[in-house]
Amino acid sequence: MPADRIHVNPLHRRSGDAPFVDKYRIPTHSMDPLSAYHVVHDETMLDGNARLNLATFVTTWMDEEAQKLYSDAFDKNMIDKDEYPQTAAIETYCQRMIADLWHAPDPDTAPATSTVGSSEACMLAGLALKRRWQHRRRDEGKDASRPNLVMSSAVQVCWEKFCNYFDVEPRYVPVSAEHPALDGTLLDPFVDENTIGVVAILGVTYTGAYEPVEEIAAALDAIERARGFDVPVHVDAASGGMVAPFLDPDLRWDFRVSRVASINTSGHKYGLVYPGLGWIVWRDEHALPESMVFRVDYLGGDMPTLALNFSRPGAQVLLQFYLFLRLGREGYAEVQGTSRAVATYLSDGIGALPAFELISDGSTIPVFAWRLVDGHTENWTLYDLSDRLRMRGWLVPAYPLPADLQEMVVQRIVVRNGLTQDLAEALLRTVREEVAYLDSLPAPLPRGEGHGGFRH
Ligand SMILES: *Cc1c(COP(=O)(O)O)cnc(C)c1O
Repeated sequence: MPADRIHVNPLHRRSGDAPFVDKYRIPTHSMDPLSAYHVVHDETMLDGNARLNLATFVTTWMDEEAQKLYSDAFDKNMIDKDEYPQTAAIETYCQRMIADLWHAPDPDTAPATSTVGSSEACMLAGLALKRRWQHRRRDEGKDASRPNLVMSSAVQVCWEKFCNYFDVEPRYVPVSAEHPALDGTLLDPFVDENTIGVVAILGVTYTGAYEPVEEIAAALDAIERARGFDVPVHVDAASGGMVAPFLDPDLRWDFRVSRVASINTSGHKYGLVYPGLGWIVWRDEHALPESMVFRVDYLGGDMPTLALNFSRPGAQVLLQFYLFLRLGREGYAEVQGTSRAVATYLSDGIGALPAFELISDGSTIPVFAWRLVDGHTENWTLYDLSDRLRMRGWLVPAYPLPADLQEMVVQRIVVRNGLTQDLAEALLRTVREEVAYLDSLPAPLPRGEGHGGFRH
């Protein structure tokens, strides 16, 4: 059968339906809805089992009440604030709850918005930093054409995109074996009068490590004293923003640190909502230049908008509010605490295998990574283990660390709500069996094509 056609199962085909559908061209004739449903449904059968996908941070399971709320609200457009004033009001409730959770000086007035995810939130955060710096430079009669942003080389790809799309020079502070995350010590030579801000990551994507926001801020205080540059910090808390407040309430990473100008998180990661939802909060109106807020005349009203997209689903915002009510602070602490306990149980078990050395142990966000012990074997790599686990249904990616550590290949597990202790025990048994199998090989596995990078 030609590769550009899909065969319609005869059992589902109704009289008049063609036996094939074209994959790449809109058909001329319509078809029976049930037949069309089955074509789409069958096509997605080979998608993996989301519960066994330990690669992604993004929510793959919510309870039945959430599903019901979701299906009640499929049709709501977040931007139609006139038509759905209650959805708009609920967005505001969530924004204030989150601003309060992150200790904004005045949660009720801190500027905030929901977004489709952290990437959009980070674009807005970066733009606000750039705009503030430009305003200041112009007021001082200085050149404002060469902005730079300082961050660790382990930032998520959205920051590379921000710098590329919005013409900002990225300055990557290299991660190294001694400094696996940005910690302030190496910051000084990267910062100058054109630095619009420093990004700190709460929950480095590769390893889960929390970058020490207070230390980074202290290093910037020293730079200000010595050289006069007042550089704000944005915290990319895509995952940690919904973990640290519940599990590490004494960790000072948020607006309690006065240099922190803005914070983002992904509602669809440890916010526990289905994709796509993000949040961003600014410390106060000084941190968000008014010139970035659009006041649009919409359905007869004056509406401030800030997000990059116009139309977008409103249902996720309702789901976030549902979860804040349903779980409360205690419930969030319990859910995240359970994930962290499963993560540390798994990292204990994996770290105990002689083949492996842990890079992190899941005691921050419930994410950890490990590497092969140097000299353990010439016969297999973590890519082979990843392939073997995939054959058993588990998605556990292997990938190189970022620039300067890219020689080091690691494998990572992201524990999400839904990876139960029981599933974790089954996974650990499978890892042990597959490592024993790979260790029993008498010769190196043949090497095929190189493995590409991995971004999550
Ligand atoms: C996942 C992630 C992002 C991107 O978030 P999306 O919600 O997927 O757009 C940005 N930064 C960090 C640190 C992340 O972990």
